[in-house]
Amino acid sequence: MAAPEAFVIVGAGLAGAKAAETLRAEGFTGRLTLIGDEPERPYERPPLSKDHLRGETEDVPYVHDESFYVENDVELLTSTRVTGIELGLRELLLEGDRRLGYDRLLLAPGSVPRRLEVEGGKLDGIHYLRTLDDSRRIGERFGEGKRLVVVGSGWIGAEIAASARQKGCDVTMIEMASLPLERVLGPEVGRIYLDLHRDNGVEFIPETTVERFEGEGSVERVVTKDGAVIETDFVVVGIGVAPRTGLVETAGLKIDNGVVVDERLETSAPGVFAAGDVANAWHPFYGHNLRVEHWANALNQGPVAARAMLGQDVTYDEIPYFFSDQYDAGMEYSGYATEWDEVVFRGDVAGREFIAFWVKDERVVAGLNMNVWDVSDEIRELIRLRRPVHRGELTDPEVPLSQLIADSADDAAGPEMPDVALSAWASEGGS
Ligand SMILES: Cc1cc2nc3c(=O)[nH]c(=O)nc-3n(C[C@H](O)[C@H](O)[C@H](O)COP(=O)(O)OP(=O)(O)OC[C@H]3O[C@@H](n4cnc5c(N)ncnc54)[C@H](O)[C@@H]3O)c2cc1C
Repeated sequence: MAAPEAFVIVGAGLAGAKAAETLRAEGFTGRLTLIGDEPERPYERPPLSKDHLRGETEDVPYVHDESFYVENDVELLTSTRVTGIELGLRELLLEGDRRLGYDRLLLAPGSVPRRLEVEGGKLDGIHYLRTLDDSRRIGERFGEGKRLVVVGSGWIGAEIAASARQKGCDVTMIEMASLPLERVLGPEVGRIYLDLHRDNGVEFIPETTVERFEGEGSVERVVTKDGAVIETDFVVVGIGVAPRTGLVETAGLKIDNGVVVDERLETSAPGVFAAGDVANAWHPFYGHNLRVEHWANALNQGPVAARAMLGQDVTYDEIPYFFSDQYDAGMEYSGYATEWDEVVFRGDVAGREFIAFWVKDERVVAGLNMNVWDVSDEIRELIRLRRPVHRGELTDPEVPLSQLIADSADDAAGPEMPDVALSAWASEGGS
């Protein structure tokens, strides 16, 4: 490949920043431009619903020091929105009628919170959480006895509720399902999160949603579909996110639950790639497309997209992984389970120190470790093996996971599980 001269990355978030880092680390010497519409240089979002939201740190969780961009000759354009892509001309349109040509393009524009379109939805005091500014604005409202209604109990809603309780707010959480996080984790582990929130004083209202918000200028009441009226000082809505595909919709790229890319993260237009929350990528392990809205996916896809831009032979096939911290319960989840025969536990469930395994056809398809650490690599290995596991060994904390891996790898009786075409992982609660 003749060295292309100009690589442009749209979206200065985690995926975009890691792609820029990798391009330079891999020796790309051409012009490299990273464009973001936020005023900040790239930062990581997980602290925005945790310690940063609680005001426990003033530090902005930047991906790189400011000097990184200068030292690596990355032209970082902040507060700059890309408004269009002209694929034929290989040009981007920027706000203010500016144009920028590219030889290779990476799209990493992330996702945006889904809005709750109901009467009163535009009143002051109704918040969404995606950016540093959002986090600061919500955190400023926290305080002893302040009343907060959280709409949605996916990852974002659950973490906000936990942080608000830790700062003394009275928190009510409204959820369409019957349990928190049920859509991703199912009822077995959803119940554990319900107990966690109730034990920490959250009032959880299941199986309903918001009919309307009421208030004079600012929200004062939430009226639910079943007629309950909840007085409140402020509201945070966390009902999931949508991939930011607006920019590419007019460009003619293939879009389906995000920007559709192959296992090299290349879109339907040669030379144009996508990574992070926006990318609905062909996943060779699962045999279908998967769009993942989590930190590790952005962290790992950025570098793979960068290498693909350089023409290297790469494939993105990481087993999905994410983490969440709520109160004193830290957890990591590995895998991707849409259906399972049972959830098998090892450890102390009541004490919230355990591993849960989602088992389908005697194979582990996902695992969640709560307050048990340094096991997620092994859980992912078990998933990758696709071999039957002995249930007794799975539940027995005395049997090391390494032993289970060795046993299942040796188990000649177990045929590999065939690839099944499952539907893509739709947004599952925002985090
Ligand atoms: C509050 C919060 C907490 C989270 N906590 C966790 C967690 O605990 N664990 C976990 O695994 N994941 C967590 N996540 C998810 C994780 O942060 C995301 O998956 C990750 O940020 C995705 O990175 P990205 O680079 O794809 O997109 P983003 O981080 O969204 O970055 C994309 C950037 O592109 C910009 N942009 C978009 N369109 C344009 C345009 N047209 N022109 C210029 N710029 C544009 C956006 O403004 C944004 O700055 C959390 C997310 C949030 C919001």
